[in-house]
Amino acid sequence: MSSFVGRRAVVVGGGIGGLSVAGALAGYFEQVDVLERDCLAASAASRPGTAQDRHAHILLAGGLKALDEIFPDFERDLAEAGAVSVGLAQDICYERADVGALPKRDLGLSILCASRPLIEFVLRRRATAVANIALRQGCLVTEVMASRDAAHGVRFNTEAGQSETLETDLIVDASGRGALTIALLGTIGWQRPPVTEIGVDLSYATGVVQIPAGAIQDWKLATTQPAPPAVATYGALVPLEDGRWIATIANHGPSPRLDVWENFHAAFRRLITPTIYDMLGHARPLDRIRHYGFPANVWNHFERLQRLPRGVLPIADALCRFNPIHGQGMSSAAKQAQLLQNVLKQAATESDPLAAAQTGFMARVESVLQTPWRFSTSADLAFPETRGERPENFQKGREFEAALFRAAVADPVVHRAMAEVGQLLRHHDLFDEPHIMERIQAASAKAIA
Ligand SMILES: Cc1cc2nc3c(=O)[nH]c(=O)nc-3n(C[C@H](O)[C@H](O)[C@H](O)COP(=O)(O)OP(=O)(O)OC[C@H]3O[C@@H](n4cnc5c(N)ncnc54)[C@H](O)[C@@H]3O)c2cc1C
Repeated sequence: MSSFVGRRAVVVGGGIGGLSVAGALAGYFEQVDVLERDCLAASAASRPGTAQDRHAHILLAGGLKALDEIFPDFERDLAEAGAVSVGLAQDICYERADVGALPKRDLGLSILCASRPLIEFVLRRRATAVANIALRQGCLVTEVMASRDAAHGVRFNTEAGQSETLETDLIVDASGRGALTIALLGTIGWQRPPVTEIGVDLSYATGVVQIPAGAIQDWKLATTQPAPPAVATYGALVPLEDGRWIATIANHGPSPRLDVWENFHAAFRRLITPTIYDMLGHARPLDRIRHYGFPANVWNHFERLQRLPRGVLPIADALCRFNPIHGQGMSSAAKQAQLLQNVLKQAATESDPLAAAQTGFMARVESVLQTPWRFSTSADLAFPETRGERPENFQKGREFEAALFRAAVADPVVHRAMAEVGQLLRHHDLFDEPHIMERIQAASAKAIA
């Protein structure tokens, strides 16, 4: 009990971020209450509070590892629930205009593919099995309560329409937008966080399909990248539990609705290769086509504020939202939760562990966000219509990316390094290490000769 840093922590939001963080907090608070506005099904099901859950959700290897460390054997649980194991890169058809398809090598890494509702359900089952985590459904948090510079509780409406309050030592805002934390700053008259926005205006269309066994021969997951500036369309075909597949097409800029299967299927002709279009020729749609509009990558720079009110911590999408086509949000959320767990471990021995944990998390979270942010935004800024400031070295960065892909085709060591960074297993600094940089340069020199 001596390692507890507080009596109660409240987590706002029972999505991927909220559940991951509840697991991270459980060892350090006597009681962790997760307040979720939705009423939750006793199975893997889509729900209104996460409208994005009808679309493909890739859990990267770095996110899977973080969840497995917070909830030991999470990976086994997800596999047993039906998630499909996909080897990197031998089971993936990854297509780009400049290099063609990446080689299907065994890089010794794998991911598990499943629907977002299944991933969340397995996570929820693990979180709620922890004795001191309570998930309260149908609870809409309306306010973080504070006196002077310290938050001390939350006000929320219950399913029965009653307004209640809960006193707590720590409030983690995993509500997806950071609105509660920002409102609190406004109420107490503190500065709001600066915001960086990279506007992508991405239009998503997604269908769940069945594909006859044997139709797909040599890959388990296909992704076709756009070719900026001319082709601004991404496509993906990803396996799900129960032998289903999820097909997504996403476009920068406005897109006509693709409600009719034939129109949805035909839209895949816009991709740079016919791989997914051809495969969908064998497919039978199982549900109607779902749409989603994603305006912008948004980083609320809470970490740049001199301080936050005591007892408040924004996390996951509330802190930073990435263009979802790059598949990083859940994994980044899990890695932030893991960071908080590590920070709490160190803070537990401090004289004011709560303050030390808040300061420690805010000081280190940028290093967790840098790699996915750079990855997302540098790809997005390659489109002239993308809104936002290009970094000074932007053109150099694009040239480096092209060189990296060329080297990954030629050299398995670079291919593995690229996968490790892309899967959020390693920081992008890995590319600056001499043994990797030299290989990238050698591949470039060979290509020129
Ligand atoms: C179209 C689309 C596709 C995506 N694809 C991927 C992908 O392939 N891979 C990936 O890793 N990520 C993907 N993402 C991102 C991913 O969904 C999020 O980054 C991830 O879920 C982490 O979010 P979170 O926990 O912060 O928020 P969410 O998972 O959105 O959860 C927020 C929770 O808070 C609850 N809530 C909100 N307000 C309140 C309140 N006031 N009181 C109580 N509860 C509240 C909501 O009901 C919800 O349950 C995608 C996103 C979109 C939009």
